Amino acid sequence: MNNGCLGTHYSFIPMRTHYQYIIVGAGCAGLQLAVALVREKNLSLESLLIVEATATHEEKTWCFWYPTNHPFEHLVKKSWKNIAFSAPGVSVKEDLQSMRYQYISSEDFYQDQLLVLQQDSRVDFLFEPVQAISADSGINQVVTAKGNISAAYIFHSQPSYPVSEKPFLWQHFLGWEIETATDVFDVDTATMMDFSLTDTAHPLFFHYILPFSSRRALVECTFFSVNLCEKEVYEQLLTQYIAKFIPVPFTILSKEVGKIPMSLPPKKLIAESSTIIPIGTAAGCIKASTGYSFTRCMKHTQAILGWLKKENEIPHPVSAKRFLFYDRLFLTLIQRYPQQMPGIFASLFKNNRVAFILQFLAEQTNLLQEALIFIRLPKRYFIKVLLNRTK
Ligand SMILES: Cc1cc2nc3c(=O)[nH]c(=O)nc-3n(C[C@H](O)[C@H](O)[C@H](O)COP(=O)(O)OP(=O)(O)OC[C@H]3O[C@@H](n4cnc5c(N)ncnc54)[C@H](O)[C@@H]3O)c2cc1C
Repeated sequence: MNNGCLGTHYSFIPMRTHYQYIIVGAGCAGLQLAVALVREKNLSLESLLIVEATATHEEKTWCFWYPTNHPFEHLVKKSWKNIAFSAPGVSVKEDLQSMRYQYISSEDFYQDQLLVLQQDSRVDFLFEPVQAISADSGINQVVTAKGNISAAYIFHSQPSYPVSEKPFLWQHFLGWEIETATDVFDVDTATMMDFSLTDTAHPLFFHYILPFSSRRALVECTFFSVNLCEKEVYEQLLTQYIAKFIPVPFTILSKEVGKIPMSLPPKKLIAESSTIIPIGTAAGCIKASTGYSFTRCMKHTQAILGWLKKENEIPHPVSAKRFLFYDRLFLTLIQRYPQQMPGIFASLFKNNRVAFILQFLAEQTNLLQEALIFIRLPKRYFIKVLLNRTK
């Protein structure tokens, strides 16, 4: 994150001891919420402090599927109208109809959001790690090495989980942005999952491809697993995949490394006070079965605004119960039967329209539609998991 442009509101010491709102964490969720708060005309925002531990972040390639009109459409660097899925014997490529798969650079997002916030005299920044958040004697406080600061409302994206929640997996990956010597990529199609490369030592991994042009793409080797891999494992698999499926000379322009928790949010999200509100990762905005969070943070932000304006109850958890149940089932399945997952994903994509699958993953389907998805999946392993329920 470039903090050089934060002007007079950027500080290493607290400027006041009390604020109306404090947001802990200037990340995806914190910045979305901060900008929404300053832009909301029907809220009388008096003061907002954003407390952030680190001044720099690794750039991330944030993607999501959504209609094209949304508050971040000006930041979309590339969008794709088709999604592809491949596994041995299955190859699907489909139009997303009214949606697009869209890419935003986290760096552009930070710059854009910070620019809005630094122009607002009601907003202060403190670059300091928060040591604790408490509600002693009814006073909400963030504790830092530079002193304690209180607020009527504290929003924080510091997860108090996931290690305690089970099942717990990581989605972990290494991506290479490559440039090829000849035109090889279909610029209209993002490959969400390609299981074509197999390796007996690693039962569940796939490749993900975001083509930025006919010669430039991000190719990522992604795992869903309990344990992380050594760097060499991703590198070997990426090398093999590119040699086999993109067999032209290439150069590596940049790399993206990441790990995203795949875990259900804790059952009780508001621990100490109804005015200390988890957001982002801490609120379960990362969908446990996919690792996507960007549009869920958007939805949660709107729910928080509605709650502050007393229009609706704040939704905790972010997902309806039945979607948490599906996610738990799915994570348990991955943990117990990783070798079956490429086949299960293949049935999912073979038997359902991609736009429908994405609608389901965005939790916008109804019970009947969800039943249709499950009926068309191989049932054996789902039944085994259901009969042998995890805690
Ligand atoms: C490489 C990579 C690629 C990804 N791609 C996608 C994608 O394509 N689509 C998608 O939807 N999601 C993607 N994700 C996941 C997405 O980045 C996260 O889910 C999202 O950033 C979560 O938002 P957040 O605000 O909860 O956390 P963050 O964005 O991580 O923000 C949390 C902030 O809190 C700060 N912080 C932490 N502790 C403290 C403390 N004690 N005091 C003060 N500040 C603190 C951190 O420095 C950070 O700035 C990706 C993640 C990675 C790593």
